[in-house]
Amino acid sequence: MLFSRVGVSKLCFLLSLAFCAFLLLLIPGLQLPLRHVEIPKPRPHSQSPAGDAGRPGQLLGLATGLHLNIRASAAGDTGATPPSRTLRSGEADSSSSAVGSGGTFARNGQNSLQALDGDARRAGPVRSHLRDQLQLGDIFIAVKTTKKYHKSRLDLLFQTWVSKAKEQTFIFTDGEDGELRRKAGDNVINTNCSAAHTRQALCCKMSVEYDKFIESQKKWFCHVDDDNYVILPSLLRLLQAYSHTQDVYLGRPSLDHPIEAAERVKSDGSVSVKFWFATGGAGFCISRGLALKMSPWASLGNFISTAEKIRLPDDCTIGYIIEALLEVSMTHTWLFHSHLENLQRLPANSVLRQVTLSYGGYENRRNVVSIGGGFSLAEDPSRFKTVHCLLYPDTNWCPSKKRP
Ligand code: UDP
Ligand code: MN
Repeated sequence: MLFSRVGVSKLCFLLSLAFCAFLLLLIPGLQLPLRHVEIPKPRPHSQSPAGDAGRPGQLLGLATGLHLNIRASAAGDTGATPPSRTLRSGEADSSSSAVGSGGTFARNGQNSLQALDGDARRAGPVRSHLRDQLQLGDIFIAVKTTKKYHKSRLDLLFQTWVSKAKEQTFIFTDGEDGELRRKAGDNVINTNCSAAHTRQALCCKMSVEYDKFIESQKKWFCHVDDDNYVILPSLLRLLQAYSHTQDVYLGRPSLDHPIEAAERVKSDGSVSVKFWFATGGAGFCISRGLALKMSPWASLGNFISTAEKIRLPDDCTIGYIIEALLEVSMTHTWLFHSHLENLQRLPANSVLRQVTLSYGGYENRRNVVSIGGGFSLAEDPSRFKTVHCLLYPDTNWCPSKKRP
């Protein structure tokens, strides 16, 4: 009897143990580690943008409108936190046909897809059809010039692309010119900066450009030089793929590595800082959201003192404020072109899909895009008229469509 009572209580004890164990299994928190074991996805390989700029054709699928957004830590791509690299779908999302210089392709298609699948969905451009269509009137285009180029350079711009964007193009110069004033009215801004090609003079102009943009209430600030052709449909298509309220800094890196400068704004210059910058000679664009954040270092003359502190030119100072001070990564695009690159290498069939073009070296070695049309090289040495007539064939001075 005693034996059986002990047996029954033992059995009860075992049963209650088993019941407790069963209850434990039902607690969701204890089940998670069992149910949600995920194999971490490999991050895209860290590649130096050196390759992107220096070896076009190897890394990026710009032919499909991909842009590379590189977050370079101040210490380069070797910081403690892995660099986040985002392939932006850029114009691809807006079903555009904008392509990069010479059609550059992802070195590793799988990595590109992984990047698009991850970061780009959060940080990348928004599908255009989800947002209101961007208008040319939403863009503030600043052209930097100097009095001696009003005739030789600006006239060509007014004859070509500026004629299609009169309201939103602002000329920043350094001397009064009655003829220019008659042509462009209040869109000519005499900065009263010195007419010299010095760091101070160029930073002075950039400072006025920035202030005028902020005043304008427009969504995008784009800066170009007076030897740039802006392909307006491509510019619209590119910007349409991003949101002006987000932090966007779009341009072409002029170097294949980040620039290094002594940090004299946040510290005493004993440490250095590395950052990318968009080369001013190819043009660049900044969203309003980001431009507003630049204000402490860029507005009302602060740009000049920031540039003085780091002792770098205007375009580098823009990169410094954005990348080093605001810690916003530049989005590298190969749709902007300066005459520092070999423009002949741009395939003729991709020229009209670029965002900016340039020309240089008439005198010695001509550096212009190779594109055929109704004008000979003698008639149109910069090729800007040829490009313009291909884009707008109905322009009254363009050769008849019948002509080759
Ligand atoms: N520029 C200027 N002041 C000068 C010389 C040039 O504002 O004294 C402007 C010029 O109008 C152009 C830009 O600076 O928009 C770059 O000048 P340029 O193309 O002559 O030189 P680059 O740096 O491209 O070789
Ligand atoms: Mn130039």
